[in-house]
This record gives sequence, structure tokens and C-alpha cells, in this order.
Amino acid sequence: MPRLLILGGTTEATALAKRLASHPRIDARVSLAGRTRNPVLPPLPTRIGGFGGVEGLAAYLRDEGIGAAIDATHPFAARISANAAAACAQAGVPLRLLTRPAWVAGPRDRWIGVPDMDAAAQALRDLGDTVFLTIGRQEVAAFEAMPGKRYLIRAVDPPEPMPALPRMSLILDRGPFTLEGERALMRGHGVEVVVSKNSGGRATDAKLEAARELGLPVVMVQRPAGNGVAELYGVEDAMEWLEGM
Ligand code: NAP
Repeated sequence: MPRLLILGGTTEATALAKRLASHPRIDARVSLAGRTRNPVLPPLPTRIGGFGGVEGLAAYLRDEGIGAAIDATHPFAARISANAAAACAQAGVPLRLLTRPAWVAGPRDRWIGVPDMDAAAQALRDLGDTVFLTIGRQEVAAFEAMPGKRYLIRAVDPPEPMPALPRMSLILDRGPFTLEGERALMRGHGVEVVVSKNSGGRATDAKLEAARELGLPVVMVQRPAGNGVAELYGVEDAMEWLEGM
């Protein structure tokens, strides 16, 4: 059974790590980027921090004798996924992408699909004044292009640096979120527009249901293109791939 590297930073990666922690034959380790101050540590040996690009990751694979890899990073973590595809191809390590289906708009949803965060900021021009930004902390600076709005920013840690937005408040919180909580938060703050990445998954989809109930538009940032890596849907699928090796 080859030694496994899991590129983590998601609930799926943690769920897989929990499943493998007591596995008698699979020797697995996790890598985290180190973005959050207090990460949820998986129950497996874990390294934290970047590898130093494709070359660094390829060297890690060789040095650590990694024989299989699962990219379980966030669907918007495009650089590490591209690096993993290139490094695994270089090192001859089989790679799979553990992903989750994108959210799909239903008939009662008012979604405005945009390709990236700059386009999301521009889409706000003709929408309401109070904007709920549920996009994490890394890309909030894009909204400096639309500084007149009132922003409610929710993230696990504060943005660094803080965006130059004159009417801004910060909610520090980590999912999963409930429909009741999201509804109360949106009503309480008078939210008129929601901005979201199309992350998919259950942990953060309650905001979409709440927006639907309240009739609010959602500016939905579409996923970056993939790298053609074969996909696994969920922990059981991943276990089947690993146990078949
Ligand atoms: P990214 O833009 O694709 O990656 C930037 C750099 O961070 C990579 O080049 C790599 O540095 C390092 N990196 C990323 N993930 C890593 C990992 N699991 N282990 C070691 N190094 C890693 O990624 P990101 O959007 O900054 O996301 C970073 C982490 O946060 C990921 O683990 C992701 O799953 C998690 N996350 C991201 C989002 C999001 O919306 N982007 C949301 C929730 C969680 P080197 O080139 O030096 O190797």
C-alpha cells in the first residue's frame, strides 16, 4: 500500500483523515497551507506551510516516498491544485481530486453568475446597498472598486490588510452555519445582496436557502477551471480508490 499525501484545508480532507486514522494499512499524512490561525488539525501526521511551487512539491513527494496523492483542497484553491497536477505527473505519483459538486440554482434563486471577484464587485453596481461578503478573507480587497456600499464581511480570521472600505463590519466565524442562523443574521443586518463563491457542499449552503427565502440576489463566483485530474466524490469513493491500489 503506497504512502499517501492528502492536500487538505477542507471538511472533506478532515473527514478522510478521520477515516484513515485508524486504518491498519494506509500510511497517510496531511498538508495544510497554514492560512488559518487556529486550523482544525486532522488526526494524522500533519505538515503546515507551502512546498515552494511545483519543484518543491515534487521534491517532497520523492523525499517522503509518497506513492499516491489526494488533492482535497478547496475548489477555489487553484494554484495548489495546478501544482499538485504538475508535481505528481513529474514524480509519477497517481493523483485524484476529492471534490464536491458545485451548487446549482433552483427556480426560486436569483443568482448572478460572475467569473471572478473583480466581476463580482462590478455586479454590485445595480444591486442593493448592504452586501454580505461570504468569500473568505483573501479576496475582499477586490471590493475596494465599489467603495460606496455597506459591507458585512464574514471570515474565519480578519483580512490582512483590512480593505479600505468606509462602511464595513466584520463577523469572525467558521461554518457549518444553520438556516435559522443565516436568516436571522441577514434580517438583523438588513442584507440586500449576498456574494458567494460556488464552493459547493453542505457546510455553507444555508446562506443560499436563506437568500432564497428572503428573495435576495446572490452574486455567485464560478469555479476556476480544473486540471483534468480524475475526481473522487466523497470519502467512500476515496477509500475505494485507495483500497484498490
Ligand atoms: P492556492 O491559492 O491554490 O495556493 C497558494 C499557495 O499556498 C500554493 O502555491 C502553496 O504554496 C500553498 N498551499 C495551498 N494549499 C496548500 C496545502 N494544502 N498544503 C501546502 N501548501 C499549500 O490556495 P489558497 O486559496 O490560498 O488556499 C489555501 C488553503 O486554504 C488550501 O488548503 C485550501 O484548501 C484552503 N481553503 C481555501 C479556500 C479558498 O476559497 N481559496 C477556502 C477554504 C479553504 P507553495 O507554492 O509554496 O507550495
